[in-house]
Amino acid sequence: MQPKPNIIHLPVYQPGKPIEEVKRELGLAEVTKLASNENPFGSSPAVKDALIREMEHMALYPDGGAVDLTEAVAAFWGVGTDQIIFGAGSDEVILMIARAYLVAGDETVMSTHTFGQYKHNAEIENAVIHEVPLKNNTYDLEGMLAKVTAKTKLIWICNPNNPTGTMVTHQELKAFLQAVPATALVVLDEAYAEYVTSPDYHDGLKLLEEHSNVILLRTFSKIYGLASMRIGYGIGHPDVIRTINLVREPFNTTRFAQVAAQAALSDQAFVEECRERNREGLQFLTGEFSRLGLTWLPAYGNFIMVELNRPAGQVFDSLLKKGYIIRGGHKLDFPTMIRITVGSREQNEGFISALERTLAEVQEVGRPL
Ligand SMILES: *Cc1c(COP(=O)(O)O)cnc(C)c1O
Repeated sequence: MQPKPNIIHLPVYQPGKPIEEVKRELGLAEVTKLASNENPFGSSPAVKDALIREMEHMALYPDGGAVDLTEAVAAFWGVGTDQIIFGAGSDEVILMIARAYLVAGDETVMSTHTFGQYKHNAEIENAVIHEVPLKNNTYDLEGMLAKVTAKTKLIWICNPNNPTGTMVTHQELKAFLQAVPATALVVLDEAYAEYVTSPDYHDGLKLLEEHSNVILLRTFSKIYGLASMRIGYGIGHPDVIRTINLVREPFNTTRFAQVAAQAALSDQAFVEECRERNREGLQFLTGEFSRLGLTWLPAYGNFIMVELNRPAGQVFDSLLKKGYIIRGGHKLDFPTMIRITVGSREQNEGFISALERTLAEVQEVGRPL
């Protein structure tokens, strides 16, 4: 059997290490995962009630069109119900966009050091990928624009960017979109938008109003705390949404995901509380980094990249032994940095205490003895 030649070299996705595995391997009773940008406060209590009620209907297929949830989300944003498409996580929306728009040889433009699923799915479709390096650890929109031609089908922008946590401003994106030809669809991944408190952050709906070749991606996995449910969505022009719908599997989101998302959306007080706790968490962590003489990248989401000037693999192992799972920069092309998710106050304090011990244990790079 001969698989598609363009997928043979693809790596299997490496998730953050699961808590249970670390407990078992290292014999630890307490393990804290600050690796996958999950919500340390869980989800709205309204979600659990909705799920219990939905148990009654487990034997029945879900509503493939997610009509109730579509209405709720469309009303929330003040857009038409024909402007929303759901996926099993925004991961699936990314997959569907690639599947719907790219044929072999089509051109797509993205940044280096960004969310891996853009490249992964573009490779599966055998597209020609133009990757533009980050500039000062932030998206280089001008550099990306230089790679956009009449042949460009898809452009991917993650704002704030995962894994760096940095962001581009509304003005920068506005200028970028004005220069992009209408033949290219611009995917604006807003997975962490709810966490952003900067007034300079882009207004996705406004950009969409001005440019019908924009699709916004949102997820219930991050601030809404529903990562296990697998539900996210795209907001776009009805023509774009109709196109993507052509490749959607009939029952791609579950009953449980749909009711959980609707309940979560209805509890905006929970979202606001999480945003505030996250802001405090970032303030605490950066205060501690400063005290420890460390530098970090500007963080606009619920995670932060910090420079330790030590081999990230060794730092990862050292923190793991102390019960903290983080993302080592060695896997992200930032060999001496780590990325950590902002936890609860208690988790953040515990992490800093573990980090201080790790800094004493792991030798700095290039520092003479
Ligand atoms: C987490 C994440 C997603 C996808 O999350 P889903 O769980 O698939 O909804 C998409 N984009 C970015 C940048 C992310 O960090």
